[in-house]
Amino acid sequence: MTSPASSYDVIVVGAGAVGAATAYFAAHAGLRVLVVDRGPIGGGTSSAGEGNVLVSDKDAGPELDLARHSQRVWRAELAEHGHHWEFESKGGLVVAATDGSLSALRALADRQRAAGVRVDDLGADELGTVEPLLRPGLAGGAYYPEDAQVQPVLLVAHLLRLARAAGAEVLTGAPVTAIRSARGRVVGVTTPSRRLDAPAVVNAAGTWAGEVAALAGVHLPVLPRRGFVLVTEPLPLVIRHKVYAAEYVGDVGSSDAALQSSPVVEGTPAGTVLIGSTRERVGFDRRPSRQALALLARGAVGLFPALAGVRALRAYHGFRPYCPDHLPVIGPDPRLPGLWHACGHEGAGIGLSAGTGQLLAQALTGAQPTLDLAPFAPERWEPVA
Ligand SMILES: Cc1cc2nc3c(=O)[nH]c(=O)nc-3n(C[C@H](O)[C@H](O)[C@H](O)COP(=O)(O)OP(=O)(O)OC[C@H]3O[C@@H](n4cnc5c(N)ncnc54)[C@H](O)[C@@H]3O)c2cc1C
Repeated sequence: MTSPASSYDVIVVGAGAVGAATAYFAAHAGLRVLVVDRGPIGGGTSSAGEGNVLVSDKDAGPELDLARHSQRVWRAELAEHGHHWEFESKGGLVVAATDGSLSALRALADRQRAAGVRVDDLGADELGTVEPLLRPGLAGGAYYPEDAQVQPVLLVAHLLRLARAAGAEVLTGAPVTAIRSARGRVVGVTTPSRRLDAPAVVNAAGTWAGEVAALAGVHLPVLPRRGFVLVTEPLPLVIRHKVYAAEYVGDVGSSDAALQSSPVVEGTPAGTVLIGSTRERVGFDRRPSRQALALLARGAVGLFPALAGVRALRAYHGFRPYCPDHLPVIGPDPRLPGLWHACGHEGAGIGLSAGTGQLLAQALTGAQPTLDLAPFAPERWEPVA
């Protein structure tokens, strides 16, 4: 790796999906970009989750608006590169086991439709045609043709490779230990061996974004929400779509600290089936949880009986970066000019990275972002004077 220059237009702290997308779009907008990570690229939560790019699990509101914007970016600005990160527009199938959960699903679909999402209501008798291995006897479902999938590790690696090709630099193994300011403005960052200068610093530190914000003297309530994923051995059986239980949407938006597990099942190009994912607030507890893995396995077999008897190859876990209102933090921080944030995307940071990076690059270059960033404002937890 070449030695970093001393001065940049923007320093991005964090080489995960969000930092990589920000670097990609900022470099392509002509900015001199440096990405700094304390670990390897993609070594944070971006390599510890699945790669769902979903609109189906978001209720009408700012997060759905960002998801729809990201969908356009995946399919337009980033379309030519999609094969690098296995972008697959496979569609999502949400299934309801009971009449009660089906009516909640129908109401959600109506709100999403009004917000512009494409959804097809499916009766119980249509589910088997869409997904033949589903267990019979479900109450009904909804099909979302826009739901897609990427391979997150490949995504980060290739976004950064493409950002480098556009002039960005990437510095790994370099923890940012200070965000420097002078005369009330950001002037750069410090690592154990370097002072790096830039008038703009983007905090894309994922679940650790609260700590990085604190280096600049500002408060951001980003906290960890643990999740496990179970991976099966490669299978000949075909699960065609991303399939999940309707209860999943409630789990995603819940503020409950206790363990929640509603299965999301999806095949991968490698033949393994990913069974995700649990949600619980246990800090950064890295111990394996038999209870969480058993719940995932049981839930997946409940949807696909053919998975009974299939061996699990491995399991992994990560810590979603969540904010109390379940919305990410995107934009300039008025508490310290020159400080920007792109973090707190909870369980959707892979899918939302494309739109986030593009919007932030627009704002960094002084353009009007295509989507209003006000709902994602960093200072939204400050007491109103
Ligand atoms: C089980 C599970 C399943 C998931 N499934 C999905 C899914 O299907 N779809 C989806 O969209 N999202 C999913 N997510 C969420 C998604 O993984 C995250 O939202 C996303 O990875 C966050 O990306 P990021 O770039 O913000 O953070 P990260 O990938 O964590 O990157 C932050 C980086 O900042 C670096 N850093 C931190 N502090 C410093 C410092 N002081 N100096 C330098 N560098 C620093 C870290 O080393 C890290 O590399 C899932 C998460 C989990 C845990």
